[in-house]
Amino acid sequence: MREEALKSLFPMMVERRRHLHRHPELSFKEHKTSAYVADILTKLGVDTVVKAGGNGIIATIRGKLPGKTVALRADMDALPIQDEKACDYASEVPGVMHACGHDAHTAVLLAVTEYFISRRETLQGEIRLLFQPAEEVCPGGALGLIEAGALDGVDVIYGVHLWTPIPVGTAASRPGPMMASTDEFFIELSGRGGHGGMPHAAVDSVVAGAALVLQLQSVVSRSVNPLDPAVVTIGSIHGGTAQNVIADTCRLAGTVRCFQEETRSIIRTRIEQLAEGTAQAYGAGVAIDYMTGYPSLANHPEEYERFREVAERETGLSSGLSPQIMPAEDFAYYLQRIPGCFMLVGAGNPEKNAVYPHHHPKFDIDEEAMLHAASLLIAMAEAYQEKQS
Ligand code: MN
Repeated sequence: MREEALKSLFPMMVERRRHLHRHPELSFKEHKTSAYVADILTKLGVDTVVKAGGNGIIATIRGKLPGKTVALRADMDALPIQDEKACDYASEVPGVMHACGHDAHTAVLLAVTEYFISRRETLQGEIRLLFQPAEEVCPGGALGLIEAGALDGVDVIYGVHLWTPIPVGTAASRPGPMMASTDEFFIELSGRGGHGGMPHAAVDSVVAGAALVLQLQSVVSRSVNPLDPAVVTIGSIHGGTAQNVIADTCRLAGTVRCFQEETRSIIRTRIEQLAEGTAQAYGAGVAIDYMTGYPSLANHPEEYERFREVAERETGLSSGLSPQIMPAEDFAYYLQRIPGCFMLVGAGNPEKNAVYPHHHPKFDIDEEAMLHAASLLIAMAEAYQEKQS
């Protein structure tokens, strides 16, 4: 029944996804996307449509039968990447592209909306639809929606991410921490400039910076439990202007990824200690700008169990345990507040050229995966309602 209904919605899903793919908008600038979604929701006849948290939309469908409130979330933003695909739905906006599949997430949630609207008579409780802006850029769009009341009265939340690293027809999730937290840091070492031939009269910020890059390699290797995955990457180091001038300042920038809050705070402390200690050892000054990003995304074990039960039985997807992965997701904020599960839905398929990793200029999905994602979201919501009633 569900499968047939979704199949009839599939052509529209593809059309909407391709429309959004042609017209991508960057994080916090999803004006047209938001208007497009709101217009469809209104026409479909949802009970309420509220613009919230910038370009976000909170919509509700109230079933005729009593029950709990289940939230389903899709993100809507694109990335600053030039689309290099050769197809008729390639991005028409120079330098902007849906290279993470958020266009498909939006199309999927619209199809899910249509499905539940047509079943209001037998729908238990409430379906809360969250169309979220700005997943790709910290501080992210989730917090804005939450502040606007997106989770008020919500019992459980589910979200999907189409995922090309796993093949179409599969799905994966994980109890507990599944996706990493992400923090960024910027360190400026200030020495005293001078003549390259007279180092004794200067304080060389480049030497202090080089030393600090190596010191920071010990954070994960020496201060973090080896059974707990973590990364400290220095992605950028800049100092100096000429070969014979001692540089006044040297700037480092890096990112931190891990899964446990305790580890996160150990890493931050060690970075700050090493930066201060190294600067002092070399006679340089130091300024540290440490920016906290998304927390680690941790699924609730009970909801992961529901995914295990439902995915295979109700959607026919071969489902498995996802490894921990280092990309971050602001869906993590919802899961910090209420129970729920974030699920990866296989979208990779060499036959359809869906072989590129997320954020790649030739990224594409097997659109069949949208059917699977919609089916999974619906099955999870229905299974939750059945269990509670
Ligand atoms: Mn994404």
